[in-house]
Amino acid sequence: MSVTLIKNIKNPVLKKKVHYLTGDFLTRSKDGHKGMDMIGKNKSIDDVIAIEDGVVITSKYSASGGYFVEIKHANELITRYLHMKKGSIKVKKNDLVKKGDILGTMGNTGNSTGAHLHFAVYDKKRTPLDPLPYLQGKLNFVSDYFQLFIKGVQTSLNVAVDGIPGPKTLSKTITISSSINSKHPVVRYIQTYLKELGYSEVGAVDGIAGPKFTKAIKHFQKDNGCVVDGVITKQNKTWKKLLKLL
Ligand SMILES: [Zn+2]
Repeated sequence: MSVTLIKNIKNPVLKKKVHYLTGDFLTRSKDGHKGMDMIGKNKSIDDVIAIEDGVVITSKYSASGGYFVEIKHANELITRYLHMKKGSIKVKKNDLVKKGDILGTMGNTGNSTGAHLHFAVYDKKRTPLDPLPYLQGKLNFVSDYFQLFIKGVQTSLNVAVDGIPGPKTLSKTITISSSINSKHPVVRYIQTYLKELGYSEVGAVDGIAGPKFTKAIKHFQKDNGCVVDGVITKQNKTWKKLLKLL
């Protein structure tokens, strides 16, 4: 088994931040291998960490993947972490995780012939993507207009501005409606974002949550399976959908 150090890791998936490649994506994807296999230094075992903020969409056992976790990130990319050690998984479905949070410990469960992490990245259509540029920070987990929206939300809610939504951003969200916080600075960013998403009924970006704003929010709520009341209730489903945490 050839083992190579993966250089220039910006977004680690192993706690000690040292990743040795044992099976790559590009040469093996045609054989149905959808991710990268890796181990720690001197074939050591390490804890597996979240590459970026997101929400846990899967935390379970399967015959092929063993104990595994899937995280959905802000721009709907999905990362998958397979073959973890039995009993080591620390997250459950719907948990919000931060970049670097421990998900579990590398193991040998499922279709695996030695302890390692199988790490994979998928787009929203479940097409496997090469994980390397994501590990090296050459590709981002967030699209530009979405990142601008998130930065605006974080600025106006006094959350550390990193352009990536997570539990902290959600916890600071406030209720917005035509009668509550209707002129809050965050309204402007929501208006811009709704426009980007194609909800043109939102009208002018004037920073005021009036009837047009309510109409656009109702439309957004309807499209996203939320209660259709025209109110963006703090920490509630409409906020989670706006922040792509669900
Ligand atoms: Zn693998």
